[in-house]
Amino acid sequence: MAALEFTIEKRLKGALGRAGILKTPHGVVQTPAFVPVGTLATVKSLTPEEVRALGAQIILANTYHLFLQPGEETVAKGGGLTKFMNYGGPTMTDSGGFQVFSLGFARGHGVTKVLKKTEKRLPRDEQESEHSKLVSVDEEGVTFTSHIDGTTHRFTPERSIAIQEKIGADIIFAFDECTSPLISYEEMKASIERTHRWAKRSRDAHTRKDQALFGIVQGGRYPDLRKQSAQYIADLGFEGFGIGGSFDKDDMTSIVALVNETLPENKPRHMLGIGEIEDLFEGVERGVDLFDCALPTRHARNGMLFTAQGRYDMCRADNKEKFEPIEAGCGCYTCTNYTKAYVHHLFKANELLAYRLATIHNLYFIVHLVDRMRASIMDDTFFEFKKEFLSCYKKA
Ligand SMILES: [Zn+2]
Repeated sequence: MAALEFTIEKRLKGALGRAGILKTPHGVVQTPAFVPVGTLATVKSLTPEEVRALGAQIILANTYHLFLQPGEETVAKGGGLTKFMNYGGPTMTDSGGFQVFSLGFARGHGVTKVLKKTEKRLPRDEQESEHSKLVSVDEEGVTFTSHIDGTTHRFTPERSIAIQEKIGADIIFAFDECTSPLISYEEMKASIERTHRWAKRSRDAHTRKDQALFGIVQGGRYPDLRKQSAQYIADLGFEGFGIGGSFDKDDMTSIVALVNETLPENKPRHMLGIGEIEDLFEGVERGVDLFDCALPTRHARNGMLFTAQGRYDMCRADNKEKFEPIEAGCGCYTCTNYTKAYVHHLFKANELLAYRLATIHNLYFIVHLVDRMRASIMDDTFFEFKKEFLSCYKKA
């Protein structure tokens, strides 16, 4: 079969949203869908079977991390990503671009993909001197320092594709230049032009017919650059598309709509690294089919649990004797079997089971929320569902 078949089942009236079916060599994904992140071929603290059992249809692993350990050759010898981790279902890998750039730069400055109004702009020269210690970019590719042992490595578009072909996920991504949300128009323009040259090189390097290659649209917060990028990437004939960070919070919705109006309608679109509840609704409404984000699992390990009323701090002292589920009516394994008091106790005692139970709940919550968005597109109640849900959900 072709690496990927995508069918649109139903369109959202008066908007770009749609419900679809994505067929991959390792199974089917009903979209829109949330994609849990299994950075090192593991969703931290859960077995891959548990991830499937809670309702996840597809997972994303990080090329940068698997390249550093255990190495793509080992994953290939283990039968490829899905077999190596005994997942059985569809998988995707990112290109490694975001980690190569961000582990050297954005993380050091606390800059996230969606820029909040409070985040400060550092002087450009200060950014560069910090950044250049860890990452250097040239037209051919990126040289970077391993966050594990300080060794030096180099990714080029060709190298990223070769590594992703060895890892063997069903969906892989073109290598792109990831920039800070803070750069100027001129800098962003130069950056997308490089991303476009790298997209073409990624496409030309791609040989495996059983893997679908997605091109990535960049352009930051600048509408005309986003449009230009979407048009260019669309013309390269990829099987699907990634929408890369970075956004100003206020501009995100209009940028996503603009990009998806420009991209061909009949191919899947994946929004990279976005997982805030409001952003998921806005993305689905504007035609995004897949979302990945490490936030729900990271929050879980910190005791921050999702509920319909907003995030809930499991470490709060008043949970000590609450012998009720984390969320009444939640169908997850944790809420079916355990109380807030018990999970609170596990967090206070630093027990490993705390991470497992919290991760199960958060992933179940977000995976099923996007499933409910899909169901509401199918039965024409999306806008009512969105309004009702967001009216109860308090932002953190
Ligand atoms: Zn639950």
